[in-house]
Amino acid sequence: MPAGPQDSFQERKRRLRASFIEQLPDRLRQARELLAALTTSERQDEPLSQLHLIFHTLKGSGASFGFDAINASAKEAEQTLREVLDGDRRLSPHLLADLRRHVQTLEELKLSVDSAMAADSQPRFTLPAQRADEAGSNQRLIYLCDDDPILARDLSDQLGCFGYEVEPYASLEALRLAALKRLPAAIIMDIMFPEGRDAGPAAVAELNARLDTHVPCLFISMRDDFQARLRAVKAGGYAYCRKPVKAVELAELLDQLTSRGTPDPYHILIVDDDPDVGQFYAMVLDAAGMVTRVANEPERVPAILEEFDADLVLMDLYMPHCSGPELARVLRQIPGYLGLPIIYVSSETDARRQFKALEVGADGFLTKPIEPERLVTEVHLRAERMRTLRSLMIRDSLTGLFNHNTILQLLKVAMASCQRSGRLLCLAMIDVDHFKAVNDTHGHPTGDQVLMALGRTLRLRLRESDIVGRYGGEEFAVIMTGLDADQAKTIMDSLRESFAAVTFIADGTEFHCTFSGGLAAFPEYSDPSALIEAADAALYRAKRAGRNRILIAHSNSRQ
Ligand code: GH3
Ligand code: MG
Ligand code: MG
Repeated sequence: MPAGPQDSFQERKRRLRASFIEQLPDRLRQARELLAALTTSERQDEPLSQLHLIFHTLKGSGASFGFDAINASAKEAEQTLREVLDGDRRLSPHLLADLRRHVQTLEELKLSVDSAMAADSQPRFTLPAQRADEAGSNQRLIYLCDDDPILARDLSDQLGCFGYEVEPYASLEALRLAALKRLPAAIIMDIMFPEGRDAGPAAVAELNARLDTHVPCLFISMRDDFQARLRAVKAGGYAYCRKPVKAVELAELLDQLTSRGTPDPYHILIVDDDPDVGQFYAMVLDAAGMVTRVANEPERVPAILEEFDADLVLMDLYMPHCSGPELARVLRQIPGYLGLPIIYVSSETDARRQFKALEVGADGFLTKPIEPERLVTEVHLRAERMRTLRSLMIRDSLTGLFNHNTILQLLKVAMASCQRSGRLLCLAMIDVDHFKAVNDTHGHPTGDQVLMALGRTLRLRLRESDIVGRYGGEEFAVIMTGLDADQAKTIMDSLRESFAAVTFIADGTEFHCTFSGGLAAFPEYSDPSALIEAADAALYRAKRAGRNRILIAHSNSRQ
């Protein structure tokens, strides 16, 4: 068999199993010692808890590694000890004998690495599909089909401003012929045509069937009824936009549809006192493309979180010295981790106990043994939801950029980090010129479109490391690190020129917009409010000097 990722997955799983088997006698010896020390005359919570933990862990990892025989015995012993600890049962000589018997059963098990391997061969999960990397040249080619030829052409022109090569088609037949000749990266399709109320989706479905492919498709329509939306979904529609559609929104959707970049993988921190179990989860999640970190000691978690930007924490429930809920409580008391999603993974099946653990502010419970497939799905879903929620809180809904509060926070963090590293930092404040006139002449929705377009220009043209936010109304802030003011000005000037070149169309008339900007540099201005104030003052000077320019603030020119 050829070597591949599955082989290495199997190999790693094999090693984990071997390590589990190797450690088993030691754990059982510990259990025996604890049992020998127990007497029936008095309650001894400490050794009882330790014993409970041993069986609990054996149950959990035995199940995870596919050793069913371990699972059965450990489960019974764990249950018994639980009841004693809860005060529901007394520790009788009979009960102690039972526990010893369980240990003996476990000691006599003949485990081998291969004994459980056959049952679960390979991880079978599939992640949301990434579009295959096609020849590449058609990546920006979009077909737009609408029976209103003016709308089709207008929208195509506008999308052209966003770097797409859009070909308008006013009839389904023309689109069909074009698609058969050359496949576009995506199709933007109207719903209603002279051929019928649902002719658009029908044509897309037929085209896909005929080409035996799936051309990504966005639907646009006046209709907003359920039937229309359903038809669009059935035809494989990725999004549905009601007319009048905004070019910027379509451009955003096209970006998502045609982007080849893989999304940032989810970062998962796994906390489990059993190194093998932690490694096992890490292995499963790694294989699904996530980035993982394992902490075997709860006390290390805060330090790890400082440098590992976790989307989610998978946490063992029972750990010696610090339980899952205790660790959750510690994290919740640290600013910044209040919203961090925490999911317990445990073989605890008692609903009451699960509920109690969740009360501390955790977000979910996964019960061991957990199939790799399910682990991946659950973690993926929750991490995804968390990212969406988080981005809603920190992003501006119109432009998708960081909002006012977030950009201030980020500026503080960036300045502190530059202070430590001695790196340079520049802040640019920019403001659209005569924006009130845009609203007054073309209407507020057109004004919104200008803001979206500006946000997009900034986001796409700046480097990954630069931070862009919407500071307020038509004012934006850009944080650039590792550049001096002159270098930052060069970048901002080129952005200014590309934005000025965007043609906006409203009610059939074309217009252009410009912006002015003020730049201030750190360490010349050494605290966030001074930096903002200086950039603002420079912006004001740029406005007075005639707009459509970037000016740099200098401390000696401050009045
Ligand atoms: P200047 O060149 O001096 O900056 O002139 P201006 O007209 O751009 O500046 P002014 O501050 O007088 O007007 C800004 C306008 O921006 C007023 C406000 O209604 C509009 N505005 C603020 N936020 C939004 C928004 O989210 N959408 C739209 N469409 N307009 C907005
Ligand atoms: Mg303005
Ligand atoms: Mg303004």
